[in-house]
Amino acid sequence: MGAYMLDVGYNCNGFEIGCSNCSYNKKFFMGFSVFDYRFEDHVSFMEDEDKTRFCEILTNHKVQSTKFDKPIYRCAECGVVEMQRYALVVYDDGSVLETRFDCPRCGDRMQIVNHVDDIISLTCPECRNGRIKITDAMLWD
Ligand SMILES: [Zn+2]
Ligand SMILES: [Zn+2]
Repeated sequence: MGAYMLDVGYNCNGFEIGCSNCSYNKKFFMGFSVFDYRFEDHVSFMEDEDKTRFCEILTNHKVQSTKFDKPIYRCAECGVVEMQRYALVVYDDGSVLETRFDCPRCGDRMQIVNHVDDIISLTCPECRNGRIKITDAMLWD
């Protein structure tokens, strides 16, 4: 968890993306182990609205399972790429509560990227012309 596999075949704990056409670049760090915290700790770091919803479920319902991750999200509409928390709780008879993350630029719901390759070749959010590529990667030892 918390590591993305690059096409070079290594797990990396951080990388930088750039545009083939303009000076856009952005760094991502996964220096973060989801196992270092309990789920309740993750909830306590949430924004107020999510925190209230998750606390209510954890307190008043029968929790079946929980999941926490820190994935990369992308906006299909404008190409914005962001790393954000993701939390999910399954409760009662299989009901699901999960966090959602809306694009800070256009407000569209962002989608989780499961592999770094899914970011590469996206259209650049700045110039809308170039393609996103990996410009640097920090690898595990
Ligand atoms: Zn660009
Ligand atoms: Zn957007």
